[in-house]
Amino acid sequence: MIPVLLVLNAGSSSLKFQVFDLLDGAEPRLVWKGLYEGLGGSAHSLVKDASGAILDETTWSSNDRLGHEEALMHLVAWLRQHQEGRTLAAIGHRVVHGGEAFSGPVLVDDAVLQALDSLVPLAPLHQPHNLEPIRIVRRRLPGMAQVACFDTAFHQTQSDIASLFALPSEMRDRGVRRYGFHGLSYDYIASVLATYDPRLAEGRVVVAHLGNGASLCALKGGVSIATTMGFSALDGLPMGTRCGAIDAGVVFFMLREMKLSPAEAERVLYTKSGLLGVSGISNDMRVLRSKAATEVDARRAIDLFVYRITREIGSLMAALGGVDGLVFTAGIGENDTATRAEVIAGLSWAGFSLDEDANRTGGPRISTGSGPTAWVIPTNEELVIARQTRTILGATWAKLAS
Ligand code: AMP
Repeated sequence: MIPVLLVLNAGSSSLKFQVFDLLDGAEPRLVWKGLYEGLGGSAHSLVKDASGAILDETTWSSNDRLGHEEALMHLVAWLRQHQEGRTLAAIGHRVVHGGEAFSGPVLVDDAVLQALDSLVPLAPLHQPHNLEPIRIVRRRLPGMAQVACFDTAFHQTQSDIASLFALPSEMRDRGVRRYGFHGLSYDYIASVLATYDPRLAEGRVVVAHLGNGASLCALKGGVSIATTMGFSALDGLPMGTRCGAIDAGVVFFMLREMKLSPAEAERVLYTKSGLLGVSGISNDMRVLRSKAATEVDARRAIDLFVYRITREIGSLMAALGGVDGLVFTAGIGENDTATRAEVIAGLSWAGFSLDEDANRTGGPRISTGSGPTAWVIPTNEELVIARQTRTILGATWAKLAS
């Protein structure tokens, strides 16, 4: 029997999954991937093979009220029907927040789950959804090994100063500090840099994770030394619907003068701002690009996005003491040639020079000349979860065997 890992990434109304074969000594090998979306309403599921060919598609009506539990059990039944020669060994979960306690992946038990629950106030919009499938599996598949893999953990290498807010020290004692997110993505990029350019892996690199959520990370020798996201996933760059860094005084103005409740203010900052808020059109870069020539507000939203990215890259370059390379990744970073070109144009002062042909064809290297290099590297957060889950399982199995 080949042991397989199920990797889960749960959102408020979605459940994304990937299934990996664990072969001795080799990288976990993707077998199936897919998602359930529209959970709680008219749900839809898709299963694809590793090449992207659709193997299965199911639609439920809103009367079916398919929730996360039903979706997960539907997935488990599908796996049992199709897994010939394979056995489900463990489940790895994407969990947004590991707080101060978890500087790496962890096997989930009662105490760990309780500790992760206590972090819900630090990531109220993501953490509860990430923890729900863990609870469902404990209830419905008791005994199944589950590993939590964190978006924050990769940044625990940052210095005390880099993670500090200029607030009274009792706030720091309550856990109010910069954590940073998208760590699974940065972990993947750091792990493959040497295959693109061995000097980069040793050097000073800014990674731009530009998707619906967006952040930057400064890597020195593959280790995170600074990042744009802070206490929550709201900080740093403007995103699809999130505002990015703003003056905290704006929040007081919203509460005091505009009479918004904290929940309303939170909704504005998380779901009505960013590219969507500025353009008034869409949070999707593809839509904004298609309208940028005719709609002034689509152009402004893109210009602000690029301006903020460029400024923040300058800030991370200062933290690194210079830069050897810039990596673009995630939905916009991997696909939007115009954003890459505009960011690099804004960094010509630092010696970056765009190779237009390479940029058009997706690189991987998209810079020319003798200055710092620029790259397009597709991220793979699920593979990092699979790797981390296998590492934890290996340690657990070794402990059981000894
Ligand atoms: P992610 O969160 O990494 O899946 O990225 C999602 C974002 O990537 C979407 O909101 C789109 O704006 C953007 N995106 C995906 N494909 C393209 C593309 N071909 N061109 C421009 N933007 C894209």
